[in-house]
Amino acid sequence: MSNVRTRFCPSPTGLPHVGLVRTCLFSWGYARAKGGEFVFRIEDTDAARDTEDSYNQLVEALSWLGMGWDEGPDIGGPHAPYRQSQRSDIYADVVKRLVEGGYAYEAFSTNEEVEARHKAAGRDPKLGYDNFDRDLTEAQKQAFRDEGRRPVYRMRMPDADITFVDAVRGEVTTPAGTVPDYVIARADGSPLYTLTNPVDDALMKVNMVTRGEDLMSSTPRQIVMWRALIELGLAEEVPEYAHLPLIVDERGKKMSKRDPRSDLLKYKLEGYLPEGVLNYVATLGWSIAADRDVFTVAEFLEAFDLHDVKSNPARFDEKKFDAICASHFRMVPADELTELLVPELQRRELLDGEPNEAERHVLDVAVPLVQERCTTLAQAAEMLRFLFCGTEVELDETSAKKTFKDDAAQVLDASIAALEGAEWTTGAIEEALKAALVDGMGLKPRKAFGPVRVAISGKTVSPPLYESMELLGKEVSLARLRAARATL
Ligand code: GLU
Repeated sequence: MSNVRTRFCPSPTGLPHVGLVRTCLFSWGYARAKGGEFVFRIEDTDAARDTEDSYNQLVEALSWLGMGWDEGPDIGGPHAPYRQSQRSDIYADVVKRLVEGGYAYEAFSTNEEVEARHKAAGRDPKLGYDNFDRDLTEAQKQAFRDEGRRPVYRMRMPDADITFVDAVRGEVTTPAGTVPDYVIARADGSPLYTLTNPVDDALMKVNMVTRGEDLMSSTPRQIVMWRALIELGLAEEVPEYAHLPLIVDERGKKMSKRDPRSDLLKYKLEGYLPEGVLNYVATLGWSIAADRDVFTVAEFLEAFDLHDVKSNPARFDEKKFDAICASHFRMVPADELTELLVPELQRRELLDGEPNEAERHVLDVAVPLVQERCTTLAQAAEMLRFLFCGTEVELDETSAKKTFKDDAAQVLDASIAALEGAEWTTGAIEEALKAALVDGMGLKPRKAFGPVRVAISGKTVSPPLYESMELLGKEVSLARLRAARATL
């Protein structure tokens, strides 16, 4: 095959959802894996539904995930423009050539007339178009025009089976007579998706068409269009198709575009790392190995092939999503993670600007500790919060209720007493607290340190306690213990 050319051609309506991003990933991934080219095209022929916001969000999602394109609306390319709304002349010209070549024709029938004909012949009136206008004579067409009717343009389907080999599903055959002649342009000449999509694929020399399985019913029509374009000298070869499996929810139902879990930019907002999200999306229909589902982008590009995609539905599994994202969170070198966390801490007003030396030290020690316990930047920033708020840590209500009971007051008193004279290192803090609470009061470690942890960090779940106390310093730690004690 000549140089691989794939494309991603969304309609800018609504949010970038998981299905769309998976299609893009597999298309981009295949081009990159094969050293080919990846085209980004905007299918904005529905002015009523298309929005610039949606376009911007698509670009934001693709850029965040690191999927760059070689040709596209913003950077141009040899087949520009890459926005369908700017290609009307091209489509008008193709329609003209299709009609002149006899591949398409003017059709004047109204829906009512089609239904009436089906009924009269004893057929289901909802069967769809009956190819009635295929062979109208020039005189008949003129008579319709004289009545003031304006035709739509329909593509003539062959009276033969249409077969193609899908990269995912193998051979697919549509029997002759099952697909009626279809509309490619409206009476006012405005082109439909059925025309613009395959025409642009052909003119942009796309040779691998990657799209969702829900679009498969339109593929025989596209193939017929391609064959006509080839005969007209506008295309070279029918492309290969890869129809990606449906993404379903936990009940096996097609995952809705409006399902909140489907909203890709939400993950960006919540501080998921793009490497994790990309990895998970890649597992929706494809796997790198039977016993492994965590991999880097480089490993994905090394191994990916559309021909290995499975045809059975891909289940969106939140637990797996989080597990994969957590693995990637742990894989980031700590200094890189720190750089990613600084803006999060600034946004929360926990850092004023660039961290000073003392704050750097806290980050150097604490980031590796929270990294093990988090999946997102937001979680990590929240877990670091108590290290950046001076003596006054906000006590989480549930955590306080759970731990500040029974002998919590004595625990805090004994801790304060033991720590006042202690040297301020992780080891010495641990020793002093154990001696006072476990040995001195005879408490079980879990019970003993609960109130101390909540007093220090505000929560029952925190980075390791003694390290945290060392980082906070003696003064701040004791102030927090005393403040908590005062609430009891
Ligand atoms: N613009 C179409 C869509 O968003 C693209 C379909 C295709 O990939 O062929 O559904």
